[in-house]
Amino acid sequence: WFFRITKYADRLLSNLTQIDWSEKVKIAQKQWIRKSEGINLRFKVKDMDIYFEMFDSVPQTFMAQTFTVIAPEHPMVHELIKSTGHEKPVIEFIAKIKKKKATNKYDLEKKPEGIFTGRYLEYTPTGKLIPIWIASYAIYGYGTGVVNCSAHDERDFIFAKKYGIPLHPVMFPQDPAEAKKVKNLEYCYHHAENGVLQEPVEFKGRKWGEVRLGVIEFIGKKGYGEKSVHYHLRDWLISRQRYWGPPIPMINCEKCGWQPVPEKDLPVKLPYIEDYKPLGIHSAGSGQAVKAPLASHPEFYKTKCPKCGGEAKRETDVSDTFLDSSWYFLRYLATDWNDIPFPMPKSKIENSAQRAAWLPVNMYIGGAEHSVLHLLYSRFITMVLHDLKIISFEEPFTHFRAHGLIVKNGAKMSKSKGNIVVPDAYVKKFGADTLRAYLMFMGPFGQGGDFRDTGIEGMYRFVRRVWSLVSSIKYQVSSIEGKDESLELERSMHKTIKSVTEDIKNLSYNTAIAHLMEYHNELSAFYTKYKILNTKYCKTLILLLAPFAPHLSEELYQLLVNKKEFSSIHLASWPKFDPKFLIKNEMVIVAQINGKLRGNIMVDSATSKNKAKIEELVRKDGNVAKHLEGKAIKKIIYVEGKVINFVIA
Ligand SMILES: [Zn+2]
Repeated sequence: WFFRITKYADRLLSNLTQIDWSEKVKIAQKQWIRKSEGINLRFKVKDMDIYFEMFDSVPQTFMAQTFTVIAPEHPMVHELIKSTGHEKPVIEFIAKIKKKKATNKYDLEKKPEGIFTGRYLEYTPTGKLIPIWIASYAIYGYGTGVVNCSAHDERDFIFAKKYGIPLHPVMFPQDPAEAKKVKNLEYCYHHAENGVLQEPVEFKGRKWGEVRLGVIEFIGKKGYGEKSVHYHLRDWLISRQRYWGPPIPMINCEKCGWQPVPEKDLPVKLPYIEDYKPLGIHSAGSGQAVKAPLASHPEFYKTKCPKCGGEAKRETDVSDTFLDSSWYFLRYLATDWNDIPFPMPKSKIENSAQRAAWLPVNMYIGGAEHSVLHLLYSRFITMVLHDLKIISFEEPFTHFRAHGLIVKNGAKMSKSKGNIVVPDAYVKKFGADTLRAYLMFMGPFGQGGDFRDTGIEGMYRFVRRVWSLVSSIKYQVSSIEGKDESLELERSMHKTIKSVTEDIKNLSYNTAIAHLMEYHNELSAFYTKYKILNTKYCKTLILLLAPFAPHLSEELYQLLVNKKEFSSIHLASWPKFDPKFLIKNEMVIVAQINGKLRGNIMVDSATSKNKAKIEELVRKDGNVAKHLEGKAIKKIIYVEGKVINFVIA
């Protein structure tokens, strides 16, 4: 059984522009779907009432076609070779190729094999009869299984040279010496933007890269074929001859044909059986039938036809596990309901705030190996459910990020090389927080990184420094204002909150940790100099560090908050930054009363030139206002951009 994913090929492609996914996954999906626009050519086989159709995505060199190949598995082959005198060798050849393909050991693409069928195609564009060959590299199931061949395709070129089939180049390089080589068939000249066409006469002298659409139109007008779109994407084969899986709910009646199991009888549950192993050996392309385990259980498959009520047989194949994984995320919201599989329009869940909050999935993280299977099937199934009006959105994952790969000392980890990093040993030696933070720090999330023991030791030192700084200042709550760098520290804190918050949002964990290291260095330098540090700076440090080193931050948080009742750092609010500390060209104006520091304000350089404005802003500062209350001001001295001093009685 197949699902017609090809019907969704265009939408699966065009919707890619609307979702925020890792570029490499989008590219992989595009290449998997691979839309190509070209031309469908149609020509008659000489002396037969058979027409060959072939798709050509590079129609510019259609005048170069000198032979045609057909796939060995193509059902038309047998009719084609009838009474040609070539039957016996051709049938033997096909059997040989089938065997070779089954072993998967032969490179039939690079070392193509073939045989002449004894038939010719009436190739009207050149008015010539061209031989029809069977070639190992032609694939039945891709396009029409028939391929037109010319001097301007690498595989065709190799094949023709091997079997002495004539070639006729029609496109040449501009350089005469190179053109001569192409004419002498010294190499295959193809897909050259600047290649100059010689034929047909209507396009003589034109460049290959410029005539594609013109040639397609020309071929259409001449009646050789018509414009056509092809996809590399195949329909999704969902049948599996295994035990584990949901039975495909179809019933076959000899009288009525295939019937779906009526909805009231769904689901068809997988029965318990002892002999769950598939019968027969599955080998790709061997043609050997594999018997599904359920096919040995008449108590399962014997049933009545839903249409006529007569004897009928259930399908014994089960569906592909990728079918289950293509909608599992919908089920999470409906686990409390047995009557609905997932949020459906008009259902109590679909209209809930819960649904809006959780679906579509707003961030999905996974391996790039799922690019064209799970991630494509999920999109397809979601679109189908949307079109059936079962769910209200058509893309399942609005954001997807592929994680990178971690290597060890520059080499890919593998069991055979024995260079697998076993986390347990590192957890034991350095603690889980160190390992976790190191994994986040070693490289950009999307690229992975190189695991080195020296690297994890560096992270261990950082973690210990944070511990010693924060644990030693735990009861220091005194004001640090008035110290030279105190405002720098304030600015640094707000800058760090901003950077780390944004970095986490962008999955840029390595830079988030780098910002925390810088911030820690500043706190540490200040503390070394003044032996005093406001706890808020440390609290911010560990709040920001909590996602990366959850255990350490929790311990330090408990020391800092010193509460009677336990409250976890992981339930505390995320710190907020004050944009006023991030203003560019900002200046700090210190406010003094009778020469004593009473506060400060931050202004841009333009404001700093306006004494009246500065006075107004400073008076609004709580501490300054308190000290000025009821006092007569004798004089206000303003040193531009630095200090404002109120002289009071
Ligand atoms: Zn029937």
